[in-house]
Amino acid sequence: MSLWKEYLHPQTVEQAVQALSAAASPAIPIAGGTDLMLDLQQGNHPPVHTLVDLTGIPELRALEIRGEWLFIGAGVPHNRIVESPLAREHAASLVEACGLIGGPQVRNMATLGGNVAHALPAADGTIGLLALEAEAEIASPEGRRRVSLPALFRGPGQSTLAPTEIIVGFYLPLRAPGQGSAFVRVMRAQGIALPILNLAVWLERQEETIRAARVAVGPAGPTPFRAVQTSAYLTGKPFTAETIAGAQETLLAEARFRTSPARATAEYRRALAVVLLKNALTTAWQRAGQYPGSNQQ
Ligand SMILES: Cc1cc2nc3c(=O)[nH]c(=O)nc-3n(C[C@H](O)[C@H](O)[C@H](O)COP(=O)(O)OP(=O)(O)OC[C@H]3O[C@@H](n4cnc5c(N)ncnc54)[C@H](O)[C@@H]3O)c2cc1C
Repeated sequence: MSLWKEYLHPQTVEQAVQALSAAASPAIPIAGGTDLMLDLQQGNHPPVHTLVDLTGIPELRALEIRGEWLFIGAGVPHNRIVESPLAREHAASLVEACGLIGGPQVRNMATLGGNVAHALPAADGTIGLLALEAEAEIASPEGRRRVSLPALFRGPGQSTLAPTEIIVGFYLPLRAPGQGSAFVRVMRAQGIALPILNLAVWLERQEETIRAARVAVGPAGPTPFRAVQTSAYLTGKPFTAETIAGAQETLLAEARFRTSPARATAEYRRALAVVLLKNALTTAWQRAGQYPGSNQQ
């Protein structure tokens, strides 16, 4: 039995949203298919009539500087992000996250847009992007708009996208001197597609002080979690063991780690969170000091 009745190949973003509006429903986008095909086969996704294939749209595969931003198209596969010198320079936490997703075959097919649109709280690419304060460009039949990444998530596996909307791509602020980021995770052996815990940090340093910080962690709630209290705690503090200890305490107080039968207990995740936070902070701090033009060592 076929998993779909109709398969469309739009060549532009406008054709894609038009197809989603006009085609026999249910109609949904497909990119790499690494999440969607398994969900359809295993009955974890409601049946679909029409699949709208986004892989033939050149705009969705762009990866380039646009003014003050790095633009990464939603259809860019993870392996291209890992190999991109631009992404390596401006988006280290994302590059590290994409490099850990699945194995080489999955990374060749799976896209950043699919990772985000699936809206899982611990999706690696999503957590890597959250710390970078990325914005998403959304296309609908009415036109285009930009939204902050957190505005895309409603609940586990549920985005706020309307059925006729697609993500065009992501805008990431360019890295400035004194800034650095890092992503770390703990994973069971491959076969389970999501980590036990992942965590990303972005920070800006001014001499020995953390001028600004952003921490994202998953799974730590129903949607990909921005640890805003931990980020605020770190801001303006010296980079010392005492500051790291305070940030660890703040993270444990604000994040909702839970037990999931296939992956880990809440207690284990809490123990991991303090280690991952320290490791990511230390790496991001070092990178911030090494970035060309930075005054710090
Ligand atoms: C063996 C295996 C290992 C994996 N390991 C990991 C892992 O380590 N970490 C991790 O985070 N994930 C992992 N995954 C999950 C998956 O590979 C990623 O989430 C991937 O990025 C999904 O992208 P895709 O292009 O394949 O999405 P698809 O399967 O094509 O689509 C996923 C969902 O997003 C929607 N969608 C896709 N593109 C768009 C768009 N541009 N606009 C709007 N909606 C869109 C689809 O309609 C669908 O609902 C793994 C999967 C497998 C099979």
